[in-house]
Amino acid sequence: MQMTFKAAVAVMLISSSWCSVSYCYQLPEDLIIIPEKTNYQQTSTHEDMMNFVNAIKAKSDLIHVETMAVSFENRELPLVVLADPKVTTPEDARRSGKPVIYLQGNIHGGEVEGKETLLLILRDILLGDKRFLLSDQILLIAPIYNPDGNDKMSEDSRRSQEGSPKLAGSRRNGQGYDLNRDGVKMEALETAGLIKNVVLKWDPELFVDLHTTNGSWHGYSMTYAPSYHSAGHPATSDYTMNTMLPEITKIVDQKYDLKMYLYGWYSLRNGWPPKIWRTYNHHPRYLVNQFGFRNKMAILSETFAHDRFYKRIQSAYAFASEIIEYTNQHGREMARINRAAEEETVQYVLENAGKVKKGVRFRMVPLDEKFTLRTYEYKPYVNARGQTKFVRSGRIVEIPDVENHSRFEAEVESTLPRGYLFPAELGEITEMLARHGAEVVRLDKAVAVGGEEFIVEKFDRSEREFEGHQLVRLSGTYSAATRQFPAGSFKIDLAQPLANLIFYLLEPESDDGLATWNFFDDYLIERNVESEKVAFPVFKYFEMEDK
Ligand SMILES: [Zn+2]
Repeated sequence: MQMTFKAAVAVMLISSSWCSVSYCYQLPEDLIIIPEKTNYQQTSTHEDMMNFVNAIKAKSDLIHVETMAVSFENRELPLVVLADPKVTTPEDARRSGKPVIYLQGNIHGGEVEGKETLLLILRDILLGDKRFLLSDQILLIAPIYNPDGNDKMSEDSRRSQEGSPKLAGSRRNGQGYDLNRDGVKMEALETAGLIKNVVLKWDPELFVDLHTTNGSWHGYSMTYAPSYHSAGHPATSDYTMNTMLPEITKIVDQKYDLKMYLYGWYSLRNGWPPKIWRTYNHHPRYLVNQFGFRNKMAILSETFAHDRFYKRIQSAYAFASEIIEYTNQHGREMARINRAAEEETVQYVLENAGKVKKGVRFRMVPLDEKFTLRTYEYKPYVNARGQTKFVRSGRIVEIPDVENHSRFEAEVESTLPRGYLFPAELGEITEMLARHGAEVVRLDKAVAVGGEEFIVEKFDRSEREFEGHQLVRLSGTYSAATRQFPAGSFKIDLAQPLANLIFYLLEPESDDGLATWNFFDDYLIERNVESEKVAFPVFKYFEMEDK
């Protein structure tokens, strides 16, 4: 009897004995994720996710699990390490010579498909047809970066998702912080764990942060951004923006018929059709941007909030799995670019300290080329009060010649020093820099050194509370000075890999430095900064003889 093609497929699906693992495998029930079990009505709780991780760990010898942090409400953040053969330590990972790639989901508790997608990727790599993705890389996967937010589920936490899934978590962590504004101040337990137990320990070449949009009804299934270059070495951002993301965009379109583009939003305030598409920000408080300052690559991924949950999982899966296909092929090249950026950063300080200026405050500017925007179409109407309003149609249209504001240009610059000196009483600053991975030393004898001192002329502290802070903006002038620092003072030689990050954190006029986040308030207020000029305590030197 001849079997039809459909019947043959049906037999393959029910008979695992002759079903090649390359296109089907029998799913153990405990590895079916909550959205699959509930017709995409529900998302996993932290407990569901832990059950999944424990179940898959028992079924594979390629997985190692550690805890990268414990949340404020005492939930574990598992870090899943996938390697073939298995590795359990960063030393093993380094010895293998394979690049380490890190992906995380759920940083904002209600943006849930990244978490589900990472579980599907675990399942497909460990038990399905994607084991080949470990041939030349080590994957670190953190499916649930904000478990406290994830588990505070309600119907109205994510209105733009229109009830799909029915309940979703809340944006903030258990301490009340937005984890994607915490990159500089590191007050959240999750951020501290990420930097200490992932970044400084495993040293990933690429950081992927999976989100869901909040905004515009654009026509893309997925929008994304590299780390923006402001004061970081440009090579890592340039590679992500100009080589890697365009290639992945093309492949996702071909393989999945999904449209992706650079992250942004538009406003209807200036009418229809939109003329300007704007991204978010360049600040290192956003984790993706911070990786650029660390001479590493990073990708912000934003699925389209108004798509239904199953479609968003599909989009996140397409993007994340194509990212790791790409890194499996190009990871070594990416690691080389990162290493060169790091070496050039150190060399740049050695050769240019005191001679060049670098940006400390930036503004958003358009890319040179305009683009054609895909978006849902709006139609104007005049309401009873004579005002022009817009109503959205169901049609996706293409709007030509839209400016893309996706680049940042320095508006305030400061001289690159060889290093910084500051008094022993600012131990908190030292501790913060060390937690970021910077090398800080204590002077064992007094020094007298020439350099530049910043005189604070204006101390603007915002009235508005933001993330438990009132952000500060300092302005003033630098002038040449010679200062003495006694033994016990702190010294940071900027000729080190994190030079660009340290510069941005310590420069007084930086738009996202430690001064912004109130680390110098006590020192400055004690010296009456609100009514008098005060010398900023971090002194810049251009040369210091080693004795
Ligand atoms: Zn988000």
